[in-house]
This record gives sequence, structure tokens and C-alpha cells, in this order.
Amino acid sequence: MLNIILFGPPGAGKGTQSENLVQEYELVHLSTGDIFRSNIKGGTELGKMAKSFMDKGELVPDDITIGMLQSEVNKVSDANGFIFDGFPRTVAQARSLDEYLESKGEEITAMLALEVTEDELKTRLMDRAQTSGRKDDANMDVIEKRIKVYKEETAPVAAHYESLGKFKAVNGEGDIDEIAERLFSAIETLKSQNKS
Ligand code: AMP
Repeated sequence: MLNIILFGPPGAGKGTQSENLVQEYELVHLSTGDIFRSNIKGGTELGKMAKSFMDKGELVPDDITIGMLQSEVNKVSDANGFIFDGFPRTVAQARSLDEYLESKGEEITAMLALEVTEDELKTRLMDRAQTSGRKDDANMDVIEKRIKVYKEETAPVAAHYESLGKFKAVNGEGDIDEIAERLFSAIETLKSQNKS
């Protein structure tokens, strides 16, 4: 299986590039943010609980997020692999993901990090607010909180996969198709390294 973590701050283009990776490698896309938002839409208890954190730009607690992610992985019986988008966002989530995959005889192939300057992130998120209908994109205080949470709680996850030789940073600015090509070539490099 090809199990990719698509990593990066809010607005880095994880959702957009996940679509390109799904097409290229026929992977199952799991976005914890999308799953929370569909629960909010459906009015579930999980959605109500998650909303209170999401509206403030805070992370949903680990135990809830991890449980939800595992049950989504479990629903898939036959896959070439997964793209984890927006997960793991804490070191505890990363450890639990590694253990969970190991229990299934699987592992993370690579973490690919989309690098984008902070000014560009803010511009993209404010632009996205026009069409996404997302409350957390429409308010600069919430955007800044999400970037702060990313730096403090999420960025350390990169070191975890770096220490396993699975981390690759990719320039996330420029033409969407060119960024996709950078991701494909990073995957091919990591795949060939893993084989040798
Ligand atoms: P995203 O769609 O990835 O930008 O996520 C939107 C919001 O959902 C985040 O700001 C968090 O409140 C919540 N969220 C998504 N993924 C996670 C996660 N792995 N851990 C905790 N909270 C998450």
C-alpha cells in the first residue's frame, strides 16, 4: 500500500493536491476536516462537539479525532492506500496512526509537506472564504489562531517522520499542476529509497 500524509499549514493546498494524488495513485482520501464538516452538516453529536473547537480555530481533542479516523480506515476493505489530509496534527495522533497501521501490517510510506509563506496562506484562506462557506476561513483572528496552533502543535509532527526518513518538503507555491508534479516526483523518490 501507498500511505501518504499530506502535511502543511491551513491554506497550503492539501485538499486540492489530495485530488491530484487520488487520481494519479488511486488512493482513498481521508480528510479529518471534511469528515468533521460532514458530521456538522448531518447534525451528529460528533459534529456538534467538533464545531465548538473548529469555530475557534482549535484542535478537536486527540481521543475523539483518533477514534474517528480509525473507524473511517476500518470502513475501507480494499484500497491501494490512503492519503491522510489534515491528520495527524499532533505527535500523539502520529504515534497512534503508526501503531494502528502496524497492527494491520501497514505503515506510512511518506509525509509530504507543502511549504507556503504565511502571507500567501492568509491571502488564500480569505479568498477561499468567498466560496467555501467556512466560518473558520472568514475571520482573520481565527485564521491566525489556526496558523499558531499549526506552528505549536502540528509542526513538531514533521520531526517525527523526518527521524524515520519519511519526510519530504515540497514547494507549495506556484501553478497547481506543477506542484502536483513535484509531489509525484517526491513520492517516486521516496518509494525507490524504501525499496533499496
Ligand atoms: P481542515 O479542514 O483540515 O482545515 O480542518 C478544519 C478544522 O477541523 C481544524 O481547524 C480543527 O479544528 C479540526 N481538525 C481537522 N483535523 C483535525 C485533527 N487531525 N486533529 C484535531 N482537529 C482537527
